[in-house]
Amino acid sequence: MKFDAWYTEPQTENLSLSTKLKNILYVGQSKYQEIQILDTYEFGKVLILENTYQTTERDEFIYHELISHPALFTHENPKKVLVIGGGDGGTVREVVKHESVEKIDFVELDGMVVEVSKQFLPSLSCEIDNPKVNTIITDGIEYVAKTKEKYDVILVDCPDPVGPAAGLFEKEFYNNLFKCLNDDGIMVQQTESPLLHETLINKIKGHLKDAGFPVIRPLVCSIPTYPSGFWSFTLASKKNDPLTSDVNEIQDKLKNMPTKYYDQDVHKGVFLATPRYLK
Ligand code: SAM
Repeated sequence: MKFDAWYTEPQTENLSLSTKLKNILYVGQSKYQEIQILDTYEFGKVLILENTYQTTERDEFIYHELISHPALFTHENPKKVLVIGGGDGGTVREVVKHESVEKIDFVELDGMVVEVSKQFLPSLSCEIDNPKVNTIITDGIEYVAKTKEKYDVILVDCPDPVGPAAGLFEKEFYNNLFKCLNDDGIMVQQTESPLLHETLINKIKGHLKDAGFPVIRPLVCSIPTYPSGFWSFTLASKKNDPLTSDVNEIQDKLKNMPTKYYDQDVHKGVFLATPRYLK
């Protein structure tokens, strides 16, 4: 029998994205959310949480390389990294590529997302059990409020600002991130669509400025499965600016590091090519 079904995510009140399914591999309910793994024709295996595309095998490299490498290469010697969210493991996989990194605290709210990703998305979750990775199943908002740890780089790989993720976009959270970073620390967060969520991006920028970050740089890219297909990250740094990084040094380090999207040209280009209205 031919399996002929489509998955549709209503991305805004007036916009949906549909993809044709090969199969439904997993559907489960955790304490926090409904989790689905779908096998699709265009995007390979896809992780859906609460009826929202989170990541796909086809385009995940764009997101995971851009949330991690611009910050990790802007920092001169990142040793200790905190990843908040990112239960699929894609961000952790990219951080592990950096030889200087000695420890990654991986703080994810929902242990079931981690387990399901280990089972169905091995190309993303492959480094979660790396000895450098310390998986902590707890709320990232509470974690940064309470911890005494200090980090060189913090990557906030969060979903949309709803439910338990809403506080990851609030003033208090950014104040706590600032406190958890060393004096040359850098943070990056996924900050939604520059087309649909410009007000939110400006609000985040204001919070980061108020928290005390002297360097704040948005970067944009195309991610076909997210609302509008046009996506943003925001980098905030206590000291180093990605625009003054030594690109020759980056090129040298990349000789031993497989990446598909990020390279020494993308490192500055992705910030320089930010649209005028976001700058
Ligand atoms: N790339 C994705 C996107 O932009 O939609 C994010 C993917 S990742 C799967 C998001 C993860 O953040 C989920 O696994 C979710 O459980 C986790 N999360 C949500 N709220 C959180 C919180 N307060 N603390 C830590 N993790 C959280």
